[in-house]
Amino acid sequence: MLVTGSSVSRGISIGPVHLFERGKTEVVRYDIKKSQLKDEIKRFKRAHRLAIKHLQNVRQAIPGDAPEDIASFIDSHLLMIEDVPFKQAPIQIIETQLCNAEWALSIQKNKLANIFDQMQDSYLKTRRNDVEHIISLIQDFLLKEQADDGKSDPAEVKKLKGHIIVADDLAPADTIMFEHQNIGGFVTEFGGTTSHTAILARSLGIPAIVAVANIRSLLSENETVIIDGNTGTVIAGADEQMLRQYRKQKRAEKEYQKQLETLKNKRTRTRDGTDIKLMTNIELTEDIRALKHSGAEGVGLYRTEFLYIDRHHAANEEEHLSAYKKILRAANDHPVTIRTLDLGAEKEFDPDYEGPLAPNPALGLRAIRRSLKNPELFLQQLRAILRASLHGEVRILIPMLTSLNELEQIMQLYKMAQQQLERKKKNFRRDIKIGGMIEVPAAAIAAETLGRHLDFLSIGTNDLIQYSLAIDRIDEEVNYLYDPLHPGIIKLIDTVIKAGERLNIPVAMCGEMAGDSRFTALLLAMGLKEFSVHPNNLLEIKRIIIESDIGALKRKYQRIIASHNPNKLIEFCSNKHA
Ligand code: PEP
Ligand code: MG
Repeated sequence: MLVTGSSVSRGISIGPVHLFERGKTEVVRYDIKKSQLKDEIKRFKRAHRLAIKHLQNVRQAIPGDAPEDIASFIDSHLLMIEDVPFKQAPIQIIETQLCNAEWALSIQKNKLANIFDQMQDSYLKTRRNDVEHIISLIQDFLLKEQADDGKSDPAEVKKLKGHIIVADDLAPADTIMFEHQNIGGFVTEFGGTTSHTAILARSLGIPAIVAVANIRSLLSENETVIIDGNTGTVIAGADEQMLRQYRKQKRAEKEYQKQLETLKNKRTRTRDGTDIKLMTNIELTEDIRALKHSGAEGVGLYRTEFLYIDRHHAANEEEHLSAYKKILRAANDHPVTIRTLDLGAEKEFDPDYEGPLAPNPALGLRAIRRSLKNPELFLQQLRAILRASLHGEVRILIPMLTSLNELEQIMQLYKMAQQQLERKKKNFRRDIKIGGMIEVPAAAIAAETLGRHLDFLSIGTNDLIQYSLAIDRIDEEVNYLYDPLHPGIIKLIDTVIKAGERLNIPVAMCGEMAGDSRFTALLLAMGLKEFSVHPNNLLEIKRIIIESDIGALKRKYQRIIASHNPNKLIEFCSNKHA
């Protein structure tokens, strides 16, 4: 069987299938030794305590005028969680079955659910949901603790190592769970090429294919599959000859990677002598490690909303600061561009969020709009960035900037953040560069007007393409329309690059287009001098830049533009130019 989808992360992987159900807490059983019993019980008790604390926080946050039912609902959970079935029974299961705490809780959940199912009283029957909620809450804290540790249990590693995770879709929070499990790849039924799920999969450096219709019903657990992230194909039931062929291809890819490694410390200069700044995008802790060894000239985009990914609460000033310091250290004195929070749209990480959804979140209160609506959160982040400036070169990047009016508000709040720090006698640098992300078509057209008030611009092609072509980036139904080479997109990119040239300010590109090797020659020909790409793509892009002759590329490009034939642009991008 051979099915295709959209490839979102390259490479080949061959391994057993693991069918993953999204939205449910994935609990795996593993045995513990008698000597580990005390520690496992301690783990359980800690998670139990944290779950109580969480419920208490929720209870306190209920506004005074909220209906009484809400408070009593939480109160009843607070009472239940202290009861024997939730506090002592799981410990007994850990002791008798010598299993991990998460699994003990699952056993207890099933036991209680069965009892509730047999009840006649319909009110009591509904309490079954409460049981599930409480147990999942404790399990969440146990699982989160593993993610925070940066290492998961060895039994789990063994269990999923090399597996191909097949799911309907993966939320960023799900992906985190697989971060340290050495899995072989991802296949999902939903998700677009530039969804954050896809970006996260690339962070892990493993092949991933999205938008493969009904794939879960076509595969079974542990069946061997080949996934080819270069062509977007999933192959099940392959014969020995095919398996051999893919193994060979996999080895060849490894060899090529090894060759790329030799470019690490080479200067990023074209054949005809133009220096290009090649920076990285950062999302996960994994990327920080990759940054250290990538040979990048800094971070062109640090997506700070990922600070929220493994916690239920908003990161506070100190947490922001410590994350920034970590990246500045890894950046080896190169600049780090910290993008202010870009929450909203599909980047809503709070799994408990049950509030109203905007009618059209991508056009709603996201990114800088949301920060300006919630100045306290924004000020807190600005203070952390200002304080981080003492530890290296930080730059601020504003997501989804649209109007001058927003810029005025941003600058006012920026001043306010400085004054707050002055009052607290905290030091910071005053020469931090502030840039705007060009993601909204109107901002691209008005880049010269906006750019006058900024130190640099950065083109976010993921959103720029989404908004210009009116295609939701996470809707796989319209994924086929995603086209970075659309003449309208090329024109917008060109407008921004030219605006930067006229204003004499740097223009970078940090969307996925910058890290896609098919477009490197084109972007060089258009005059782009700063690329920010995922660490996994950096050396491939570097190789192309080093082998390019910008003068020759520009001449070819001018001819194509003069011809007004979009097919020639496609041809230009599929040719090798070196
Ligand atoms: C973009 O839109 O191109 C971008 C880099 O931002 P994000 O993908 O985080 O929305
Ligand atoms: Mg964006």
